[in-house]
Amino acid sequence: MFKHHSALGLATALRPVQPVTLLRPHAAKRAARFFVEKFPGKSLYAVKANPSPDLLKILWDAGVTHYDVASLGEVRLVAATLPGATLCFMHPVKAEEAIAEAYFTYGVKTFSLDTLEELDKIVRATSTDGVPATDLNLLVRLRVSSDHSKLSLASKFGAEPGDIKPLLMAARQASDALGLCFHVGSQAMSPSAYGEAMGRVRDAIVEAAVTVDIVDVGGGFPSWYPGMEPPALEAYFEVIHRSFEALPISYSAELWCEPGRALCAEYASVLVRVEKRRGSELYINDGAYGALFDAAHIGWRYPVKLIREGGSDTREMPFSFYGPTCDDLDHMAGPFELPADVQAGDYIEVGMLGAYGCAMRTGFNGFGVEDRVIVDDEPMASLYAPHLERVAASNVITL
Ligand SMILES: *Cc1c(COP(=O)(O)O)cnc(C)c1O
Repeated sequence: MFKHHSALGLATALRPVQPVTLLRPHAAKRAARFFVEKFPGKSLYAVKANPSPDLLKILWDAGVTHYDVASLGEVRLVAATLPGATLCFMHPVKAEEAIAEAYFTYGVKTFSLDTLEELDKIVRATSTDGVPATDLNLLVRLRVSSDHSKLSLASKFGAEPGDIKPLLMAARQASDALGLCFHVGSQAMSPSAYGEAMGRVRDAIVEAAVTVDIVDVGGGFPSWYPGMEPPALEAYFEVIHRSFEALPISYSAELWCEPGRALCAEYASVLVRVEKRRGSELYINDGAYGALFDAAHIGWRYPVKLIREGGSDTREMPFSFYGPTCDDLDHMAGPFELPADVQAGDYIEVGMLGAYGCAMRTGFNGFGVEDRVIVDDEPMASLYAPHLERVAASNVITL
């Protein structure tokens, strides 16, 4: 892989025709060290946010030892990439065959569930000659509100309060370690999302009167995007720590979290070229079927920056983007603020695509090709989060 010092250096040296994914290993490492050092418990990386083996190795080297996987494909990928990693199968609806292969072939002991049927499935799939396994860590997923999050996860998974007691009692019988988990939704904009969900955890523990060994607060930790500037992550950790300490659980109980976005959003951005301009619409060479799926489908706004030698003196104005395919859906409304004189042939860096961006790329219409280059400049979150630069500069975090 090539290495360059900045997006500008790359654009001027190579004038790339295809979109180029710019990778910033230093940013992923910094995010991982932040969680490893500051989260008051164990941090599992949620692999679906970006399953790149290069990224998995960076996170591992930075001290992330546990991985939240949701499919057999992810189990196999992480096991092959990081043989020493501990895998936790945290999808509440799994194929019985997938559970069996994960347990017997890959040594996966940790599974989540939200129904008695799924519990039966896990017990059957991990039994040997009809004898149930005795080394399972079972995490019961509670349904919690997604009110504070930009992307809801409230309707698909999670046991309802009325079903929790029998489920926890049955899971207690079948497990070595019993846990509770939830997911507040992605890009949770307020720490109180976790405080409120921990209230549901407390209610469940009190009602079922079982011993709980693990509390897993899931993902949802936010990153910085235009118009979405959340409080510092320390404020989230503080609320989680305080509510965990107040739970009626044993002194040795463990606290886990499953960040996806927060560990990898800054890891990658994409350098695109403007092929045509029509008023305030820019036709660029990546889009809805590439790394900009969320920009097209749920109106996510990413930071953008004109990458041109000498820059531009003109004021900024709002633009929308069309992607390269022949499909009308390949449209990103933004608005994306760029200098008013952007023209065909210019390069634009679209930032914060390390999570749910590069992972979504397809080959539709022949446009799936991308080059990947490592750069060592700062990710575009630094435009939105002055604190990031301070953190880097003050060396609070060992790089
Ligand atoms: C997607 C997901 C995560 C990661 O969520 P982020 O919002 O990216 O932090 C964590 N846990 C589970 C169960 C998930 O489905």
